Amino acid sequence: MPRDPLHYLTEELEKLREQKLYQKLRVLETGQVPVARFDGKEVINLSSNNYLGLTTHPRLKQRALEAIEKFGVGSGAVRTIAGTMTLHMELEEKIAKFKHVEASVVFQSGFTANAGTVQAILGRDDVIVSDELNHASIIDGCRLSRAEIKVFPHKDVEACEKLLKELEGRKCRKLLVTDGVFSMDGDIAPLPQLVALAEKYGCIMMVDDAHASGVLGRNGRGTVDHYNLHGRVDIQVGTLSKAIGALGGYVCSTRNTIEFLYHRARPFLFSTSHPPSVAATCIAAFEVLEEQPQLTEQLWANTRFFKQGLKKLGFNTGVSETPITPVIVGEAAVAHEFSRELFSAGVFAQSIGYPTVPHGKARIRTIVTATHTQGELSLSLEILEKVGKKLKII
Ligand SMILES: *Cc1c(COP(=O)(O)O)cnc(C)c1O
Repeated sequence: MPRDPLHYLTEELEKLREQKLYQKLRVLETGQVPVARFDGKEVINLSSNNYLGLTTHPRLKQRALEAIEKFGVGSGAVRTIAGTMTLHMELEEKIAKFKHVEASVVFQSGFTANAGTVQAILGRDDVIVSDELNHASIIDGCRLSRAEIKVFPHKDVEACEKLLKELEGRKCRKLLVTDGVFSMDGDIAPLPQLVALAEKYGCIMMVDDAHASGVLGRNGRGTVDHYNLHGRVDIQVGTLSKAIGALGGYVCSTRNTIEFLYHRARPFLFSTSHPPSVAATCIAAFEVLEEQPQLTEQLWANTRFFKQGLKKLGFNTGVSETPITPVIVGEAAVAHEFSRELFSAGVFAQSIGYPTVPHGKARIRTIVTATHTQGELSLSLEILEKVGKKLKII
């Protein structure tokens, strides 16, 4: 027998295959566009986070090219040694102005922004109060911080307050953290109520606006702007990888908090900074957000049209309030079959099962963008109807 200490992983994979939960990666052969070619097939793409179509925006591409010509393709170091370029500083200033905050710091991804920040600002004597559906990167940050983690049922403000009451009198720092828009259900956090609780119980308030950046609020400024809570959320995290169209994450806070993160956030200290082209692209993206609010408006017009269509067909779209609309079917195997059949019929809507969503809540997830045409969305609805009836989902 040849030596294979990793054989147990092969067995785990076999189990996934038996349960029909094994998934092959779809390979994109074009840009991330509304009608894209995956695995050799042209499909209407309802699976990207490219909300505003910025991944292929001419101005962003041009600025990336210019940055490469001027500065090369890599930054060559971590931010704290030699890898802070003028473009990185310019981007951070741009973001801080855009979000109406004192300062911001950019990380390599939204994931590292969340994980690095939560880990850096709390320690083992502290407590984190967290929505049960918060993103994996927040959960990892909480675990890495070694603080005590208390989880409240999704969006349950009363349960959250009960946890905070129990902590009264305890000498510790407290962090109340929530996603702004929840990535699997497309619902929005009850941020005004959570902010009020944070103020009442002396917590640090943090929101992860990955799916709200470029989507909610004026010019896509996020949930804090959407609810008009400026100055009342201590830490805002956003992503540059979704609506902004490139890659990265950022944290907005006070100048001193940002300076502290320069010294203690591990991804910032120990992982190389963005290539100059990425920073340049992101700067251009914020210019586009400021100058072209009609992109966000078109995104919402498409969202309303598509959501109404799905509801009229009788699909279970859960509690979505944003361009993320799940079609919940229950069993993971059914969701995967639904997604496969849709793909054959010309629509790409990824299926998602446990552990990304709870058992029994498997779904396909659809995301419309500003750049889908009405024709593409109508055709998608026709295909969803045909396949949904064939599989007896509607
Ligand atoms: C996508 C996502 C992230 C991670 O952002 P990346 O920039 O892709 O790493 C973090 N939080 C939430 C809620 C997300 O949906």
